[in-house]
Amino acid sequence: MARHVLALHVLGSGSKGNCAIIEGPQGLIMIDDGFSRREVLRRMHELDLDESRVRAVLLTHEHTDHVKGLGVWSRRFSGPLFASQGTTETKRALAELSFEEFKPGDELALAGVRVRTFGTSHDVANPVGFRFECRGDSVAFATDTGVVTPAAYEALADARILALESNHDVAMLKNGDYPAMLKARILSERGHLSNAQSAEAAARLVTGRTEQLVAMHLSQDNNRPSLAVRALAEKLGACLDDDLGISATRRPSADAAAASAAELRIRAAGQNRPISVR
Ligand SMILES: [Zn+2]
Ligand SMILES: [Zn+2]
Repeated sequence: MARHVLALHVLGSGSKGNCAIIEGPQGLIMIDDGFSRREVLRRMHELDLDESRVRAVLLTHEHTDHVKGLGVWSRRFSGPLFASQGTTETKRALAELSFEEFKPGDELALAGVRVRTFGTSHDVANPVGFRFECRGDSVAFATDTGVVTPAAYEALADARILALESNHDVAMLKNGDYPAMLKARILSERGHLSNAQSAEAAARLVTGRTEQLVAMHLSQDNNRPSLAVRALAEKLGACLDDDLGISATRRPSADAAAASAAELRIRAAGQNRPISVR
């Protein structure tokens, strides 16, 4: 059995700010930087992560909730910043920084970790998700996507840790206060994954190897952690851990055919509370 050499730290996830960190044996890779430097450092400290170990920053796309901290961060950061082609041209704050550009589908090698990029479906130029692999261990990551693209299905499947958007409960969104145009945008193929879509996708992506499933980018207005976790748990045959309903577990079944499957843990990443997923 492969050793666990990768970890996922979610400093925060949601429409008010996104930042996650992949920890590998040779350092840290930051995914998006949607918090102030001060807030990033506070949250890293809370998770016992050392700022000086960050080797690179990867962007999923250019929306403000994913990039607003990057300008200040990059002043004291000497490592490379990576973004897909077209991502940085649209925003002046980003155009002033120097990025290494890649095309969705390209592979990168960062801090001893193989990084596969793939296209997602969102209302920006070349949005991407990532799959990180190191010595048989794997983390798959996709947020801000209206549908799970065929490329995303391929890249996200069979990872040990799967971080997948579960943005909204469709009924809450439809009955909520958002303007009709915004509702339509979120529900569109270039918007965000609903709890039901996420659960549908997770059922295809989770395998006997998958140990951790993290619901990402939950809307604070149109979702609740318990709704996202319940949708995933129901689809995957997991049981809620307690009455709060914000985490669930699927234990390996006793029958011989499934005995090799790992225990699967399901939880939701929050906007304000950083979590480490190992
Ligand atoms: Zn976002
Ligand atoms: Zn976005």
